[in-house]
Amino acid sequence: MNYKNITVAGSGVLGYQIAFQTAFHGFHVIVYDINDDVLEKAKTKFNSLSESYKKDLNATQEQLDKTFQNLSYNSDLAAAVANADLLIEAVPESPAIKIDFYHKLAKVAPEKTVFATNSSTLLPSEFADATGRPSKFLALHFANTIWIHNTAEIMGHATTDPKVFEDLVNFAKAIGMLALPLHKEQPGYILNSLLVPLLSAATNLLVNEVADPHTIDKTWMKATGAPLGPFAILDVVGITTAYNINKIAVEKNQDELKIKTVKYLKENFIDKNKLGVSTGEGFYKY
Ligand code: NAD
Repeated sequence: MNYKNITVAGSGVLGYQIAFQTAFHGFHVIVYDINDDVLEKAKTKFNSLSESYKKDLNATQEQLDKTFQNLSYNSDLAAAVANADLLIEAVPESPAIKIDFYHKLAKVAPEKTVFATNSSTLLPSEFADATGRPSKFLALHFANTIWIHNTAEIMGHATTDPKVFEDLVNFAKAIGMLALPLHKEQPGYILNSLLVPLLSAATNLLVNEVADPHTIDKTWMKATGAPLGPFAILDVVGITTAYNINKIAVEKNQDELKIKTVKYLKENFIDKNKLGVSTGEGFYKY
């Protein structure tokens, strides 16, 4: 792996974290977004993120100064990617936006550039054709607050070049991530393949009036040694996300339990602005 220049496309919730973490570990990073106003906002977000690096990682001022020196910004896609060894895509989770982005990117990126998507729910094979370089395309999936929850799931599709995959595993390690390789495509990667069924089983027990959230959490924690139960995890993830996932499931398939879950979450949490840790209350108070 001899990557030096990395472009991060999209400076939203995850993109700006990926850009900062990568620059912190010594890579030259260009942040690309749709216009200069959005990029100006990213710059202010980097200032507050640097405070978190001081607090959570004991980062020194010298390390942070170097991080800022490694960061630059460009809203012209061709210029932003002109010398990129790797482009990490963190644009919105919409197939239409991503496909349009990859069509535009394919026209301007140099041949050497590897493309990696941070998509949470879409599979790389859905975009492989649009990239125009399927063998150099794969997924690199981070978790929110990547400087603390430093997992990187690496997942190719059927025709990803194994050398490209191996390089990306090494890149993930080089930016301080715990690299987690997947051997085949899997919706939800490893983490969400485990987590979503657990959270959904917990809300099923609740909505079916089998037990209350605190008893369900206590059972899970005491019996497995886990530090958090499923409802405490839901508070961290955000109850809105659970609500939206259940709503989509209801739209696809009128499952009675899911309909009850949507109603329950709406009435008890969404309408009361009890969205979890972010609003100070969810299943627990913070
Ligand atoms: P977001 O909506 O916060 O940010 C998206 C960014 O992309 C914005 O800055 C927006 O201006 C920019 N954008 C929009 N259209 C664009 C385009 N055509 N070209 C370039 N930039 C464009 O989204 P997010 O939460 O950061 O999610 C981005 C990706 O990361 C998604 O694929 C999502 O599934 C994934 N992800 C998100 C999380 C999370 O917790 N938010 C966790 C893991 C992975």
